[in-house]
Amino acid sequence: MAIQEKNYWLETVTMPAGEARPLPENVDVVVVGSGVTGLSAARVLAKRGLSVAVFEAETFGWGASSRNGGMVLTGLKLPVPQLMARYGREPVQRMYEASLASIDCVEQVVREEQIDCYFSRCGHLEVACKQAHFDGYAESAALIAREFHHKLRIVAKSELRAEIGSDIYHGGLVDEMSAGLNPARYVAGLAMAAKRAGAGMFDHARVEQVARGDHNGGAKFRVRTTKGSVWAREVLLASGAYTSNATPALRKKIIPIGSYIIATEVLGRELARELSPKNRMIYDSKHFLYYYRLTPDNRMLFGGRAAFFPETERTVRQSAEILRRGMIRVYPQLRDSKVEFVWGGTLDFAFDVMPHTGRTDGMYYALGYAGHGVAMGTYLGSKIAGVILGEPNAIPFDRIPFPSPPIGLRSGHTWALPLAGAYYKLLDWVS
Ligand SMILES: Cc1cc2nc3c(=O)[nH]c(=O)nc-3n(C[C@H](O)[C@H](O)[C@H](O)COP(=O)(O)OP(=O)(O)OC[C@H]3O[C@@H](n4cnc5c(N)ncnc54)[C@H](O)[C@@H]3O)c2cc1C
Repeated sequence: MAIQEKNYWLETVTMPAGEARPLPENVDVVVVGSGVTGLSAARVLAKRGLSVAVFEAETFGWGASSRNGGMVLTGLKLPVPQLMARYGREPVQRMYEASLASIDCVEQVVREEQIDCYFSRCGHLEVACKQAHFDGYAESAALIAREFHHKLRIVAKSELRAEIGSDIYHGGLVDEMSAGLNPARYVAGLAMAAKRAGAGMFDHARVEQVARGDHNGGAKFRVRTTKGSVWAREVLLASGAYTSNATPALRKKIIPIGSYIIATEVLGRELARELSPKNRMIYDSKHFLYYYRLTPDNRMLFGGRAAFFPETERTVRQSAEILRRGMIRVYPQLRDSKVEFVWGGTLDFAFDVMPHTGRTDGMYYALGYAGHGVAMGTYLGSKIAGVILGEPNAIPFDRIPFPSPPIGLRSGHTWALPLAGAYYKLLDWVS
């Protein structure tokens, strides 16, 4: 079978359709975007009795949330020592706590809403591409145990076969708390949960403009969409890497970075068990990293930043071969296995590689998860809903500086991305 250029996960679910009814005249909260962030927020807001309209430019979950690796990961993208040096001990303790709480948050939502998405606390494994990376694991694990009372397990090279059927790594680091799921089934379940809670769900409704206004002394925003306009008291921007010039202040703070995934044919049970004996979510220690896992039906799903540009037909096609070569370097056992699917998506990176919540032009936002969005997006979506509901704001990412692009570099200029790619490759070479 020729490789199909489509998202394998979407073959496993039917996304719910949007409302046929016309838009309401006004609502308490408009949510822009229907990934995990927007839907998690909409679910909480609607459950607490607010009127909510979710606007999605495409189909529900169309962005990164249905295309990702389905890894529900503890920790943040940046290593703890770097975070401590930048923000200090106490803020980083709260950030790390949030990252652990985010896994529980996903588990709780899955349980409460009975989302059939193969959520499993299978743990994650980071594998060291260099001896120096492995040497750094001991220090990280000790720091994390001391500061956050969270236990990671170091796996020496001689014991690595119990974790992964590959001999190319120098050792590993296991976190048993992380989990895995089928992201398309998860985001579809979240959409249905938000709908059940009473949120108005409008797909193929692109938000084109948000203007400040005053409607009968109540609503503050006039939100214009391709399906009509509504008044809203509050707006939550949950548009992630796909944030557009409809909200230019936020757009310029996000770097959209392409990431690509291949999925093999269904593998025999024994081969699958050999590749990943404990069914972990696996990623390597490089900046330009590979991440991989088995799917619930035993395909090898193998992803990486094969190209830095956001996905196009061309970058998706090129990525299939680049990723296949990468996969065979890790797993020579897969040399004769067919690759059946390839797809791409866009990651939401801020210039400081941190998640951010806050307000811009009066509108709330939550984004910048840098590859950790399945858990953190779900968590921050629900937390920002709490803030909109008037709860105290204890989000540790809310008051940290949210940098603008360096002078001369506008995130809209994708010419800069290959330079960023070359920079990360250089870092992998020297460190
Ligand atoms: C290939 C890939 C693999 C990844 N793997 C992992 C992983 O294994 N684990 C992990 O934790 N994270 C992973 N991530 C990151 C994770 O998927 C994202 O951080 C997360 O899904 C972001 O969710 P979100 O709801 O904020 O945004 P999204 O899911 O991107 O949703 C934003 C939505 O907003 C819509 N939108 C944008 N503008 C408008 C507008 N003007 N009007 C209406 N709608 C609009 C878009 O159409 C889109 O559907 C991966 C990402 C990619 C691309």
